[in-house]
Amino acid sequence: MSYVDEVIERVVRENPNEPEFHQAVKEVLESLRVVVDANEEKFRKDALLERLVNPERQFKFRVPWVDDKGQVQVNTGYRVQFNSAIGPYKGGLRLHPSVNLGIIKFLGFEQIFKNSLTGLPIGGGKGGSDFDPKGKSDREVMAFCQSFMTELCKYIGADTDVPAGDIGTGAREIGYMFGQYKRIRGVFEGVLTGKGLTYGGSLARTEATGYGLLYITQEMLKSKGMSLEGKTVVVSGAGNVATYAIQKAQQLGAKVVTCSDSTGWVYDPDGIDVAALKEIKEVKRARLTEYKNYRPNSEYHEGKGVWTVKADIALPCATQNELGIEDAETLVANGVIAVAEGANMPTTMEATEYLQKNGVFFLPGKAANAGGVATSALEMSQNSERLSWTFEEVDSKLQGIMINIFHNLDDAAKKYGFEGNYVVGANIAGFEKVVDAMNAQGIV
Ligand code: NDP
Repeated sequence: MSYVDEVIERVVRENPNEPEFHQAVKEVLESLRVVVDANEEKFRKDALLERLVNPERQFKFRVPWVDDKGQVQVNTGYRVQFNSAIGPYKGGLRLHPSVNLGIIKFLGFEQIFKNSLTGLPIGGGKGGSDFDPKGKSDREVMAFCQSFMTELCKYIGADTDVPAGDIGTGAREIGYMFGQYKRIRGVFEGVLTGKGLTYGGSLARTEATGYGLLYITQEMLKSKGMSLEGKTVVVSGAGNVATYAIQKAQQLGAKVVTCSDSTGWVYDPDGIDVAALKEIKEVKRARLTEYKNYRPNSEYHEGKGVWTVKADIALPCATQNELGIEDAETLVANGVIAVAEGANMPTTMEATEYLQKNGVFFLPGKAANAGGVATSALEMSQNSERLSWTFEEVDSKLQGIMINIFHNLDDAAKKYGFEGNYVVGANIAGFEKVVDAMNAQGIV
């Protein structure tokens, strides 16, 4: 049995009930086959892949807090410190009822390669909790965040592990967590990114993931002699990534006609109104059913459906495995040119392969959504320097990083004979740097 197959089998055996983690490991290792096969003897002797798929450390902890009725609630908190070969652990905190160890491990594993691709010195980690901020009062969210950080603060620090936002963790949650960290540890340091602008946050961090997604998509289209100008785009999600992806796509001349949340989706033939979306989601924290009040020409539908709308470009920006094989078939039948992942692993492996086989340009999340973590690393730099850069400075660095990522993965794919396969390109480009650093640091 090949070394890759052996390690995949071992991961499945030793980590039962973690399907998302299995999926992420398979996707990465399958596309690294060409590199691993060429170095099989050395990698096997060094147990390189076994070390890569085992987190350096993982924490699971109790998070008790009191709700508004005086009832004590108990959630589970996680932080997985996956790989610190190239820098301090870096990766977001997800607050969603679906969170479990397997999901945090899949995200942490992906984060290693994503962070490497940015070219910045950050290792891979991820964390979160099964707490659901939806429908909770501000006081309840604060109580949860304080309890969560009371435990988490033992394991993180500006030079060791720097968490950020993710699903369910926005500016409000980061603020409460930062306050509690400072209170317990007694230091004002850049221990979290995505902070508010008045206490160490970076301009353009809020926009970075969505904007970065469009910068890399634009660069890819440019390499094919195309552009975003005049294209119709379908987006899923209505959170941080989706909102700023829609905004930047429109600034670059495309028309975005859909968005969605966990209960339904919107079709707006005139193009999504970003100001309305922000008011509904960021200010009122309401459902997308409200969108029709702002745009009477739009349609609201319950359930899933954005991928049924005819478009040139599809940007999944909500959550994992939200674009399956049937969706991919519909997109291809409707003539989609490109799919770029704003979310982490939103496309199933089967759907990814189908899109690629049918000539759709496919940019995987670990490259396409790396703008968020890259800008988080820029926030860390500003915190260390005790300086704040302008929006334009950060945005132009972000553009440079995304353009660079595209060319790195494009070159890696070509070098190994997989021209146009950006999944292989991204995994190889991310992997090479991490492996080099791991080898240099000995067996640790
Ligand atoms: P948000 O919480 O801001 O938004 C998530 C959106 O997806 C919401 O519209 C939410 O609906 C919807 N959603 C969440 N879970 C589900 C589900 N199980 N089924 C259907 N819809 C769902 O998160 P972000 O925008 O920050 O993150 C979106 C994705 O992008 C995630 O995969 C995340 O890991 C990834 N990502 C985020 C980065 C960042 O900087 N924020 C960086 C890189 C990747 P509802 O409004 O109903 O909750």
